[in-house]
Amino acid sequence: MNVKGKVVLSMLVVSTVVVVFWEYVNSPEGSFLWIYHMKIPEFGDSSGQRSWWPPSWFNNGTHSSQEEDTERGKGKWRNEDRIEELQLWDWFNPKNRPEVLTVTPWKAPIVWEGTFDRVLLEKHYANQKITVGLTVFAVGKYMDHYLEDFLESANRYFMVGHRVIFYVMVDDASRMPVIPMGPLHSLQVFEVKPEKRWQDISMMRMKTIGEHILSHIRHEVDFLFCMDVDQVFQDNFGVETLGQLVAQLQAWWYKADHDKFTYERRELSAAYIPFGQGDFYYHAAIFGGTPIRILNLTQECFEGILQDKNNDIEAKWHDESHLNKYFLSNKPTKILSPEYCWDYQIGLPSEIKNVKVAWQTKEYNLVRSNV
Ligand code: UDP
Ligand code: MN
Repeated sequence: MNVKGKVVLSMLVVSTVVVVFWEYVNSPEGSFLWIYHMKIPEFGDSSGQRSWWPPSWFNNGTHSSQEEDTERGKGKWRNEDRIEELQLWDWFNPKNRPEVLTVTPWKAPIVWEGTFDRVLLEKHYANQKITVGLTVFAVGKYMDHYLEDFLESANRYFMVGHRVIFYVMVDDASRMPVIPMGPLHSLQVFEVKPEKRWQDISMMRMKTIGEHILSHIRHEVDFLFCMDVDQVFQDNFGVETLGQLVAQLQAWWYKADHDKFTYERRELSAAYIPFGQGDFYYHAAIFGGTPIRILNLTQECFEGILQDKNNDIEAKWHDESHLNKYFLSNKPTKILSPEYCWDYQIGLPSEIKNVKVAWQTKEYNLVRSNV
């Protein structure tokens, strides 16, 4: 190699070292912080709503199962055929909590403290070297108000001892707080375009989550949870919560009469649930499952949200109304008791034995730009 070649080569080496070092010092405890910029169009984009969907989302509003099969054939979904589930009765003992409902009419477990064998479950999932993802959005003032507490507590209590990827969606990555991560945890930060109305920020999560599952999350995790940011972990949220399609009971409604549930009751809305129907009132602040099941969920919910936009109607509780509609025809395979997402404003009834996640105080006047 001549002198010129050597000079170019050494400049390349030096610049690579500088870039890597810069990434390292800017990342908490050596876990790299990757920032991605994604263009997320607004509702009512003049280019027409459908054009901002990934092509695979078209097929009478549902994902093409043929395409899913092809994707599966290529082994592109990380957890495909990889994860073995334990038999329900090996780890689940509903008799330990006779005072509460622990099994749904379709025989899915409702996980309450004391019903599961944590040691057995931990061993099972540790052997399979699982990775669990968690998406959280913190747009506008929600970032300054809630994100740090959410992530710090999640780092302490979410899937302890397992590999975890936090997918954090913010509108301004430069304001992202630096949060030290445990050795098995990593953080990916993405920028999303803020919608003007808080209702739209909340609903657009369905679209964004679906896009991220398709473009990378499906290769990265075996299970995925999606959560609100206005809450904090207080105790272990562990592998007993994992499943194909996991729903959270809403703390204010788990004892209520079905016909009192605040489902969307107007027929015009895609989220419509008639009186006399519906199993539980589910909370949109926590849902989870395998990436392929969550992809389907987010696509269907977003399809309903768009249909409502076209019909000039907005469901009573926004994405939560559509989520409840989705779970009516797609029954969750596991349900989490209200201990997994508790509001202390209710008090602490005796059946709430161990609160894993607690609601933060709602300060809508401080965090929402339109109230
Ligand atoms: N969100 C956000 N910025 C907003 C509005 C909502 O980041 O301006 C996200 C955030 O993750 C929040 C979630 O959307 O937790 C749902 O909104 P919110 O928690 O206010 O709804 P609620 O729990 O009161 O129904
Ligand atoms: Mn919330």
